[in-house]
Amino acid sequence: MLEIKNLHVKLEEEDKAILKGVDLTIGSGEVHAIMGPNGSGKSTLSYVLSGRDGYEVTEGSAVLDGHDLLDMEPEERAAAGLFLAFQYPVEIPGVGNMTFLRTALNAQRKARGQEELSAGDFLKVVRAKAKALKIDADMLKRPVNVGFSGGEKKRNEILQMAILEPRMCILDETDSGLDVDAMRLVSDGVNALRDANRSFLVITHYQRLLDHIKPDVVHIMADGRILESGGPDLALVVEKNGYADLLKKHGIAE
Ligand code: ADP
Ligand code: MG
Ligand code: MG
Repeated sequence: MLEIKNLHVKLEEEDKAILKGVDLTIGSGEVHAIMGPNGSGKSTLSYVLSGRDGYEVTEGSAVLDGHDLLDMEPEERAAAGLFLAFQYPVEIPGVGNMTFLRTALNAQRKARGQEELSAGDFLKVVRAKAKALKIDADMLKRPVNVGFSGGEKKRNEILQMAILEPRMCILDETDSGLDVDAMRLVSDGVNALRDANRSFLVITHYQRLLDHIKPDVVHIMADGRILESGGPDLALVVEKNGYADLLKKHGIAE
């Protein structure tokens, strides 16, 4: 489903390599986690996959369901089924959540050759999804993310994910800001949306999120590369011993 091969990325503005040959294959229905010390390039990987400006791919490829992601505009990537839950969700004053979501969904439907949803039909979809996820639909009347608490932003992300029905969801979770309640929200949401036709890449600094979202594969990233991959046990080892031994083993200075 998602196949990343030998991905090298540098900053556009300066000659600084950030990703130095990332290989990652995620099959349909699988949940993969990436852990790693701060500054490893985890967020950069998610930004590059979603098409954010400022990064230059110097080598390698990233293919989703046969589509060359790196060759597409961010909207085309979304239409191809990629979803990135933002680490710092943007506030969009004046734009209601409903309008934002309907625009996003209809852009995606259009790109897929599907008919756009009327406001009424969209409302039905939203109500059903919000109810299933136990999210207060009143939140949707407010402008996107403006004045949202941390928990509300998380709820909103999960709702966006449910409505857009992506094939591949990338969640980049900061270590800070994810308190126990927010962690519950994220993990319950991901677990509710797990499906044989949907995959997840969960980026996290701490193992505890993975107590609730049971990943199929855990990858450890450092210095722009994936050092090791394994089962959920790998996350427990890292939680217990830290990254120092792993870094040393791979000849990376802390
Ligand atoms: P992580 O998410 O693993 O903490 P990041 O992807 O945020 O790592 O960053 C990887 C490295 O690239 C860090 O050294 C960071 O400072 C640098 N970096 C990433 N994006 C930029 C940018 N836009 N400008 C300058 N440095 C950047
Ligand atoms: Mg960081
Ligand atoms: Mg990060």
